[in-house]
Amino acid sequence: MAKPLLSVAGLEAGYGDIQVLWGVDLEVAEGDIVCLVGSNGAGKTTLLKTISGLVKPSAGSVRFAGEELAGSGPGAILGAGIAQVPEGRRLFRTMSVRDNLLMGAYLRKPSDPSVGEDLDRVMQMFPRLAERARQDAGTLSGGEQQMCAIGRGIMSRPKLLMIDELSLGLAPRAVELLSESLLEINRAGTTVLLIEQDVLTALEIASRGYVLDRGRVLMSGPSAVLAEAPEVREAYIGA
Ligand code: ATP
Repeated sequence: MAKPLLSVAGLEAGYGDIQVLWGVDLEVAEGDIVCLVGSNGAGKTTLLKTISGLVKPSAGSVRFAGEELAGSGPGAILGAGIAQVPEGRRLFRTMSVRDNLLMGAYLRKPSDPSVGEDLDRVMQMFPRLAERARQDAGTLSGGEQQMCAIGRGIMSRPKLLMIDELSLGLAPRAVELLSESLLEINRAGTTVLLIEQDVLTALEIASRGYVLDRGRVLMSGPSAVLAEAPEVREAYIGA
């Protein structure tokens, strides 16, 4: 495996008295696409939120590009190069597509020429967003909203892009388009950690995967191995 960009070790976190993560270990190699699968309530979102600083860990380590980030705030973690595309997209529905994308670059001055360059790059990657740049984000289709949320993530120039549910509620064709875009983003140099409820789609896109169950890692390995594992097929693929 290439050197890890992200190493999570012994991570514990939860909400008040409710502990959700129980000693999670996970590694994402630089340049890789890794998926995190598991049933509802397994703690996938909580894990992403703990990595991105929205939930404070009670124990464990989150090392990223050689730096310890556990306990840092979301702004510092974004600045270190980790961007999160949240479940449900969380766009500003009455703001334009362009302005939503610019929100992703909020750590830089809007006048910084690199912001315009990045905006052009996102528009090229997602021509539908270019066509709809002045439209309110709330008027986009579900697939286009996901493009906008991913584009906003890329606008922060992340080393690691974390996506919480790529395909949720979307038509198969939209999922195909988004999967292709994600592979393109990855080829251009961004490492990806993907949460996905559609396990087959996730294992197709990712080269490695982790199965989370009740806040613990149940299995991990190359996607091809997980896709054939009886435990995965029975519990998550229904075959
Ligand atoms: P899903 O796919 O349904 O989102 P998940 O694997 O992402 O599932 P989490 O959202 O991380 O799971 O939830 C893990 C557990 O933490 C669940 O039991 C959930 O009820 C609980 N939980 C999540 N958010 C909160 C919160 N803000 N306060 C209290 N408990 C929470």
